[in-house]
Amino acid sequence: MAKKVVILGAGYAGLVCALELNKLTTAQEVEIILVNKHDYHQLVTQLHEPAVGAKEQKDVTVSINSILGAKKIKFVQDVVVSIDKAAQEVTLEHNKLSYDYLVVALGSETEYFGIPGLKEYSFTLKSVNQANRIREHIEDCLKSYNQDKKDSKLTFVVGGAGFTGIELVGELADMLPKLAAQYNVPKDKIKLINVEAAPMILPGFDEELVAIAKKSLEARGVKFIIGTPVVQVEPGVVHLKTGDTISSDTMIWTGGVRGIPVVAESGFQTEPRGRAKVDEYMRALDEKNVWIIGDSCFVLAPNGRPYPPTAQISTQMGENAAVNIYSSMKHIKLEKFNPVLLGAVASLGRKEAIGSLGKKMKATGWLAYRVKDASKYRYLAKIGALLKS
Ligand SMILES: Cc1cc2nc3c(=O)[nH]c(=O)nc-3n(C[C@H](O)[C@H](O)[C@H](O)COP(=O)(O)OP(=O)(O)OC[C@H]3O[C@@H](n4cnc5c(N)ncnc54)[C@H](O)[C@@H]3O)c2cc1C
Repeated sequence: MAKKVVILGAGYAGLVCALELNKLTTAQEVEIILVNKHDYHQLVTQLHEPAVGAKEQKDVTVSINSILGAKKIKFVQDVVVSIDKAAQEVTLEHNKLSYDYLVVALGSETEYFGIPGLKEYSFTLKSVNQANRIREHIEDCLKSYNQDKKDSKLTFVVGGAGFTGIELVGELADMLPKLAAQYNVPKDKIKLINVEAAPMILPGFDEELVAIAKKSLEARGVKFIIGTPVVQVEPGVVHLKTGDTISSDTMIWTGGVRGIPVVAESGFQTEPRGRAKVDEYMRALDEKNVWIIGDSCFVLAPNGRPYPPTAQISTQMGENAAVNIYSSMKHIKLEKFNPVLLGAVASLGRKEAIGSLGKKMKATGWLAYRVKDASKYRYLAKIGALLKS
């Protein structure tokens, strides 16, 4: 009888895992069920663009059914509520699913570090819906400014200077002046501030590229407040550890991620930030038939530092999990997770980016921007290639 493989989450990790497993197996061997709360796959790596109106929802989403076509993967649109390891059963909001093999690829949540008011009074950027909310809020601020001339409406704060924070700041730096002109708001009244607790922006990036990024963003009006934690957020006010405050109606928090609660709540071993501990084959610790992949898990690289939560790593975890599920069914040797790191590209707005390939190759400006923009097509091409096979 066919083994039942349930894959939770159709993001980069889950979708690639489903397609790869489809490629490796026959319908007689497996039944693959893919669960996702939306009926579309989100291109999360591009979300900073719809957040400022540079792209629309349709540009950063792909219908899951159109991706799956006539493949032997059954798609279930539902929300995962809990996992019962002992009974090998997943409870969804509207259904229950039993499994022989389970893949958890539900991504991550925002980490607020217990900062008072941060969760209540900030925006986050982890889904298309959140990107749409940011765009609507920015437009509301600009539209209504001329009614009351409240300067806090024109002060935009981004908390966190990692990948997401900097890409968003770059996009805002280019789009806010355009929106200001559209809503007849004085451009020189707009303030764009990036606050970061760590001593530098873009941790993990080459220092020379970081300096170029900072200079480019400062030239477009971005003010950096680095090495300064946010300690509280109230409606209209951001409090910093220095005692300074920023009057702003817009705080967008990109300062950290943590695991999806369902993982720890279902009894899987996690690290302090709720990401699942996994073995070298990407299986949940002490479990032989559960894989936890993508941003939902925590894996140390050979240099002793955790792999960063990226689409690049997540897709490779998806491939590895698929191979290892197949190997488990066939009782053959499993494959250790050993990703190929291609480098990284961070966009800095509509025309610029910084990127590196290995230690030697670096790119800046328009060329790097094209590479970042093309990463969308790289992931789609990967999905396309898996579909053809
Ligand atoms: C603005 C931004 C820019 C980025 N840029 C880059 C980049 O340039 N390069 C790079 O490599 N990485 C980048 N990243 C990081 C990258 O997007 C993530 O690491 C990646 O999305 C993680 O993939 P995943 O499959 O683990 O999770 P996700 O892509 O988040 O997918 C999780 C899926 O699970 C679904 N889901 C969640 N909870 C439930 C539930 N309870 N029930 C049902 N379904 C559920 C979600 O709807 C989603 O479809 C960026 C991130 C952001 C936010």
